[in-house]
Amino acid sequence: MKRAGKLFSYLKDFKLQVVQFCITTLLAVVFGLFSFTMLAPVLQVLFGTGTTPVADSKAKGGLNIAGYITQWINDFVAQHDKLTSLTYIVITVVMFTILKNLFIYLSLNILNPIRYAVLRKLRDDMFTKILSLPIGFFTEERKADLISRMTNDINEIEVSIMNVLESFIREPLTIIFVLVSMILISPQLTVFLVLFLPIAGFVIGRIGKSLKKPSNLAQEYLGSILGIIDETIAGMRVVKAFNAERHQQLKFRETNNTLFRVRKQISRRKELGSPMSETMGVIVVCMILWYGGKLIFSGQSSLTGPFFLTYIGLFYMIINPIKNLSTALNNVQKGAAALDRIEHLLNADNTITDKPDAKSISTFSQSIELKDVRFAYGDKVILDNINLTIHKGKTIALVGPSGAGKSTLADLIPRFHDVTAGEILIDGINVKDYKLFDLRKQMGVVSQEPILFNDTIYNNITLGTGGASAEQVHEAARIANAHNFITQKPNGYETIVGDRGAKLSGGERQRISIARAVLKNPPILILDEATSSLDTESERIVQDAINTLMKNRTCVVIAHRLSTVQHGDEIIVLEKGKIMERGTHNELIAKNGLYKKLVDMQQVK
Ligand code: ADP
Repeated sequence: MKRAGKLFSYLKDFKLQVVQFCITTLLAVVFGLFSFTMLAPVLQVLFGTGTTPVADSKAKGGLNIAGYITQWINDFVAQHDKLTSLTYIVITVVMFTILKNLFIYLSLNILNPIRYAVLRKLRDDMFTKILSLPIGFFTEERKADLISRMTNDINEIEVSIMNVLESFIREPLTIIFVLVSMILISPQLTVFLVLFLPIAGFVIGRIGKSLKKPSNLAQEYLGSILGIIDETIAGMRVVKAFNAERHQQLKFRETNNTLFRVRKQISRRKELGSPMSETMGVIVVCMILWYGGKLIFSGQSSLTGPFFLTYIGLFYMIINPIKNLSTALNNVQKGAAALDRIEHLLNADNTITDKPDAKSISTFSQSIELKDVRFAYGDKVILDNINLTIHKGKTIALVGPSGAGKSTLADLIPRFHDVTAGEILIDGINVKDYKLFDLRKQMGVVSQEPILFNDTIYNNITLGTGGASAEQVHEAARIANAHNFITQKPNGYETIVGDRGAKLSGGERQRISIARAVLKNPPILILDEATSSLDTESERIVQDAINTLMKNRTCVVIAHRLSTVQHGDEIIVLEKGKIMERGTHNELIAKNGLYKKLVDMQQVK
């Protein structure tokens, strides 16, 4: 119940609607009950069992609404003829039924917007949170996890929220009203039933429970079977080459046999469920029939035949709400677990944020300095003891073997990660003291894998810039050597690039991402292996565009192909997170160290 409370807390913005839902549901339940209990008077009129139980009940001193209703109907019938009474009653039943359904419709129309609004809020909150989290948060494994949270967990919650409101409000109301009507019709019978019902419920509940565990097991075995099939087909070449058919066959057969046994066991219990609950149901009804009949025969009760039938009908009416309530409890548990997972994400620490008194920065005028910078993922030190100054207008190149920490170093400047120790200063002020938005406005990033969104070329170029004129966009594309190929597309700048730019070639994608950087016109540029994934021809065109882009800017360039960074003002050679060598191309060649070795290796290629 504590967990259900958690789900309820998401409804606190919808107090008014929840109250409206309660009222309409209440009315639906009441009218539903009225239209059903009208059955008794109809039967009474039709079959003319015109006893006057009021007098009887008064004599016995019992509370007897049923008696009063019958009395009232008897009086009514006495004043009108039978057919007129029947007509009135039938019209009343129809009206009550219409009202009941009208209120059900209204209540669902109140409920659904609440449900969708809660989901909208959760999705929005999650996406906003995801956008605000530092890049370090998104490893591959987390990505799958996040997507599962945004889809599966949200679905679980959708089902739960619907259930919390529907089942926790409607079902108890129905149960209470039906029980009250049952008590009014016959208190004795109801006491009898209330004593007897839990025993029946317990037996049926046990069967359901004993089914749950093996059915999870069956799911697991089925999963293993699919795994073996997948693995075998994918590795068929190896299976055949190593004569491992028999081995795979045995493995498969064993799991398949286990699944067979578990399934058999499940079906034995499952098939027991339905006959058991039907038998229990009939036993209960027969007990009611017997006891009710006994009451009628003995004349100790005001119960008449028609009311007795209505009573049995009411008993059936109460079974489903009880069942639904127990299913709902189960669903709420699942929903609350999903909510836990989502809240875990929503409460994730975001360390990279603006300080309260963050400064703005509108131009970059002197230098970027890294002082004793160290960066680690937990215990794993990625960068250590990095000291580096990049003066305005200069280009520094980061080279070194893969995994040396080049990208991580470049990521520290726009604060994609924060340093673990040391500091990074821009124009003498720590980057952590600037407003993030302003800081990143000073920088353009062109990465190895150009990131395009499934939108038009135009919108991909103006991403985040906003308010650029078409002329500026075309000019940026021209500088990026992209204008020609764009205008040759059937839809020009309005061409949709496809998922992650899939409809464009690697070189085209990269030129669009360069055009984006040109349009943003940032003083600081970070190029992370921008040409390494391209063939020689596109590389030349893209490199041309990059050279134009680099003019008059301060650049940090990560390059795999060392020929592209020979002209850098300083080349930093990183290895295992440390600066091993630094200097110009010629100085480093003369040194005959790691850089020379890397250059030599590439020339051999
Ligand atoms: P480079 O750009 O020089 O190839 P990177 O900066 O990409 O190197 O990576 C440096 C090191 O950081 C690598 O050893 C890599 O395995 C490690 N690394 C990168 N991301 C993470 C992460 N999220 N968690 C732990 N280690 C990481």
